[in-house]
Amino acid sequence: MLATQDVYVSNDLLRERLIQRRRVIDLQEVAFAREAAEFAASDVWDEDGSVSAIDWLRFNCHMTAGAAANAVAVGEILDQLPESHQAVVDGEIGFAHLAVMARTAEALGERFDERLLVEKAKENSPGKFFYICHHARHAADPKTYAAEQAEQVEQRKLKLSTWMDGSLLISGVLDPVGGAAFRTALEPLARKTGAHDDRDLERRQADALVELAIGGGSQAQIQVTSSLETLLGLAGAPAAEMEFSLPVSSKTIERLACDSSIARVLLDSESVVIDVGRSKRVVSEPGRRALKARDGSCRWPGCDRPASWSAAHHVVHWIHGGTTDLDNLILLCHRHHWMVHEGNWQLVRGDDGRMLTIPPTVTFGPSPRGPD
Ligand SMILES: [Zn+2]
Ligand SMILES: [Zn+2]
Repeated sequence: MLATQDVYVSNDLLRERLIQRRRVIDLQEVAFAREAAEFAASDVWDEDGSVSAIDWLRFNCHMTAGAAANAVAVGEILDQLPESHQAVVDGEIGFAHLAVMARTAEALGERFDERLLVEKAKENSPGKFFYICHHARHAADPKTYAAEQAEQVEQRKLKLSTWMDGSLLISGVLDPVGGAAFRTALEPLARKTGAHDDRDLERRQADALVELAIGGGSQAQIQVTSSLETLLGLAGAPAAEMEFSLPVSSKTIERLACDSSIARVLLDSESVVIDVGRSKRVVSEPGRRALKARDGSCRWPGCDRPASWSAAHHVVHWIHGGTTDLDNLILLCHRHHWMVHEGNWQLVRGDDGRMLTIPPTVTFGPSPRGPD
């Protein structure tokens, strides 16, 4: 066993070794960058049938396109960055700083002031330095900076395609400002809803996007068409129909109809419209306000998603005779509302008025069904 003293010594060695290793790697990166620029200026990559030097590097040197492009950019401008180069040699800044420096020099041309930026690079992490350089670019040439940002807006793209199973595939690009607005709206909704929330970040972001589209409170205008049998979840009932979607399950319709903010059309078995959205089952505006005042936020234990992002859940669904009185309603955020309906969780009120949750029983294979 090691004595405490020895542990300290070995930790110190580890620290020193990491710093030294990174320094050697950074110097190797500089050497690589120089040769990458030389290579890019040649036509060797063309002879090899590559579309560009970066593409050749990407494939043959196992690099990302960004890393390959950074190497070429640094190599091309290295001779104009003597102080930055020296700072890497001295271990005062890293190759990551140098890449940002090269990009800035490239963008600013004659207005680039290396001395000023090297000092900043020494004092800041590469990430922070990246921001500082952007400020410097704006300060030196606000017109070009604004033009670049305007161009980024022109490059906005959002592609939506539907998969065979009806899922929606989303891919796109937003400019920094548009992207920031999007993240500002999305991120509060993508936070974990409590200790029990085991969704990973990507799942939470996707859930947040849907929540954002639903529009929080009561603005949603999703048109659904369902038969009463479907809503009641009777065996043999067809699925319900929803605009832009494949047919949806009765569980989903039960949830959509529960938060009566969704424009809905119910058909009886003869396909005659019997209920078009607004009816006495809709929670009235005063009723909704009273509910928000009473519950404040989602009532799921441990969740504090605000009222404006929650639905009015009927403890006894109106389809089973539940009323829209306050004692039959609780606020649930959209995720927990989903868990109660589609997710088969149960929510029961304890003797002390607190809500208790019961997870679904896991069954394998087709769920057992009685002779109903
Ligand atoms: Zn509900
Ligand atoms: Zn919740």
